[in-house]
Amino acid sequence: MFTDKGVRGTNMNDVNPINYKIRLEPDLRTFEFSGCTEILVETSKPVNEVTLNAVRLAFWECKVRLDGELAECPFYVDTRKQEVRVCLPKEMSGRIFLKISYMGEINDRMAGFYRSRYGAEGASKYAAVTQFEESDARRAFPCFDHPAKKATFDVEMLLDENLVAISNGPIAKEEDLGDGRKVVRFQQTPKMSTYLLFFGVGEFDFILDAGETLIRVGTMPGMTKHARFGLEFARKALEFCEDYYGVKYPLPKLDLIAIPDFAAGAMENWGAITFRENLLLHYADITSRAGEQRICEVIAHEIAHQWFGNLVTPSNWKYLWLNESFATYFGYGVVAHYYPEWDLWDQFLHGQTDTALARDALKETVPIEIPGGEHVVINASTVPIIYNKGGSILRQVAGYIGENIFREGLRLYLKNHKYACASSRNLWEALEGVSEKPVTTMMESWIEQPGFPLVEVTRDANKLLLTQARFTYLPDESDQVWVVPVTIKVFCNSSDSKTITTLLDSKDTSIDIGGEAIAYKVNFGQAGFYRVRYHEKSDLWELGKRLLSKELPPVDRWGLQNDLYALVRRGDTSVDDYLDFLSNYEHEDAFLPLMSIAGNLFQAYLVMEGARRDKVASIGKSFLEKVLSHIGYEPEQDRRYTTSILRDQTMVHAAMYGSEDVQEFARDKFSSLMGGQSIHPDIMRSVMQIGALNGNLETFKWFDKRLKSSESEHERMNILMALGSFGDRALIEKIQQYVLSKVPDRNKFIPIQYMASNPHAMPSMWHWYVSHVATLEQFHPIHYERIIEAIVPVCGIGKEEQVKAFFEDYMRRKDKARDVIKLSLEKLEINSRMRVSCEV
Ligand SMILES: [Zn+2]
Repeated sequence: MFTDKGVRGTNMNDVNPINYKIRLEPDLRTFEFSGCTEILVETSKPVNEVTLNAVRLAFWECKVRLDGELAECPFYVDTRKQEVRVCLPKEMSGRIFLKISYMGEINDRMAGFYRSRYGAEGASKYAAVTQFEESDARRAFPCFDHPAKKATFDVEMLLDENLVAISNGPIAKEEDLGDGRKVVRFQQTPKMSTYLLFFGVGEFDFILDAGETLIRVGTMPGMTKHARFGLEFARKALEFCEDYYGVKYPLPKLDLIAIPDFAAGAMENWGAITFRENLLLHYADITSRAGEQRICEVIAHEIAHQWFGNLVTPSNWKYLWLNESFATYFGYGVVAHYYPEWDLWDQFLHGQTDTALARDALKETVPIEIPGGEHVVINASTVPIIYNKGGSILRQVAGYIGENIFREGLRLYLKNHKYACASSRNLWEALEGVSEKPVTTMMESWIEQPGFPLVEVTRDANKLLLTQARFTYLPDESDQVWVVPVTIKVFCNSSDSKTITTLLDSKDTSIDIGGEAIAYKVNFGQAGFYRVRYHEKSDLWELGKRLLSKELPPVDRWGLQNDLYALVRRGDTSVDDYLDFLSNYEHEDAFLPLMSIAGNLFQAYLVMEGARRDKVASIGKSFLEKVLSHIGYEPEQDRRYTTSILRDQTMVHAAMYGSEDVQEFARDKFSSLMGGQSIHPDIMRSVMQIGALNGNLETFKWFDKRLKSSESEHERMNILMALGSFGDRALIEKIQQYVLSKVPDRNKFIPIQYMASNPHAMPSMWHWYVSHVATLEQFHPIHYERIIEAIVPVCGIGKEEQVKAFFEDYMRRKDKARDVIKLSLEKLEINSRMRVSCEV
């Protein structure tokens, strides 16, 4: 999705907003709102017009204050540029006061000022809420819709007396109009960006925690019984952030609001954070431990944004990573602080770093700092870079300069730029200032260039030779160089070991590891964002012995096989080599390597066909059965959270590989579930998926009924994943239709994604996509992109020419999902090559 970001021409750059007074009157019956926005601006030069951003607003009149009177101004709307140009009666300078009246729609697109539906006593009801990032504030009021154009906001809403209004600040005044309506006026906000503003109107219920800062969780009516868990963790996260950042939370209150219809996961509006219901509400006996942990991560992510993004804002969208990388990093860091037993940093490697490495190994990638400032592309293509890679690079730099110095640097950065804007350079300056290490040079190499290095290692007597080159799956010419902090663990003859650190800042370097060294692990601790290749197979197998004996910690056991699998994807080594190397994991019992092996095997299983697929399935089956017999099928209270996550994931894979043991266990549980009994929430998802895999029409009807009657979004998620997991071809076709007509827009992409990695549905998915493309492209842009990214790379195998021709034509005609189409075609090429190379 390309979006015009405004600040174009001299006019908008010379004019800066100081204050907005926004008065809105939303009508939840007609889904329209009328608005009046007064904007006080200041110009550095005389101007004869003021250009503001606006989309789909119908303007009544624009006025300017001139000699104490309001004078009418002609105005011109440019729909293509998303602007309204207000012509002043004469050239003006200094402070200018504008008053603009207009109408708008409370739309159903989950962007701008939109309506969210909820069921109350059988009938549909609506709340009106906003989602403005990155550039949809202009759908609610005319404004300078750019993060650097900060101003204060006074919001006032006129609504039915039985409804509740929410905005960023607390209510300053509420006035009954005596005609069934009331006016609610909010306290003025601090200086902030337009994309962080929030308005909400509806029948919200709250529970609250009146500490030093008032924290409330807002829900649709009757849902506050699920809000306590989120409220309690929000207090913890707020305390952690205030202490770590050394800056108090600047607003008098913090709301966390659960919204039924929501496109993304959550949004950090300052003081009024919005969430998908399942990411804030905790349903007793339904929310799994994985779900509970996810709630904490998302709350921590959004609360970290109250500083990283809201208090200090990127001066340009190209620095958006400054928001999302920090929020990702602290999303894990805050939770890890309170729940060290959840092994969050291990999960970070699997969920964040690994995803980023896979994404960034495509030729079709972008740097973290997206070049060009006026256009920003936030989509399924850039999210893994800005969030996942960005967070991983922060972890790398924290490792390099040390945690305490990192924290000191962040405090300095926040203090220096609060209520203002910053660029990447401002962050380097702060980190370099406190660490006295070459942070700027190092970080520029990671932030400004695309991709990451493969570090190849060979040994020559006492020396290790390290060389770096960009890692891509498909062949690519590149002479890029990164400044790579390298940590090496050297195992010596006399059963002792040593750790060596160095900075690889040129193409190659050599290090003395001593004559007694018998094995060495590069990227020890896995804090570095790069892949490693051991030139000599024997060096890798020497490490294999150390992982079998668990001399290597779980993160390194994870890294070794995961890098090897990436080399398989790259065509450097064969799947059989990878499968052979797995023999070293015979006694593996740690979450991280097990989760990764399960994921890699499943990926290989989906890509292969025939005898090759059967071989992967057979190895996968015995591997996972062993894991499951070790951790047990039944979740128990005293187990680690990661054990629950591992079980839920591996059960589904093992069932697909044909494990009778797993099938039997899940069949039993699923029939209890259909019979009205409850089962443990930690196996609910896998049991439902396996139930669907073996299910018939009766099963489908049961899911349909349960989806309609369920009061919990967490359970609805489980059901939607299961709907994508049916094994019966006829039912798959039925469900493909059902998804489009019966599943709410916000969740349509979920069963589709699951069908795209369901071997029984995969053969029909490409054809289904092509036949329904006109409907699918009406989805929210990020959902449409997720569908393409799920379907094309695997379901397109064997149909490569057809798929390529389709998209060549599509991209000639349309501008939609371009980046995601390109990267999906590249992934398809990698998968096709992998299948073919294995057939030889
Ligand atoms: Zn975020």
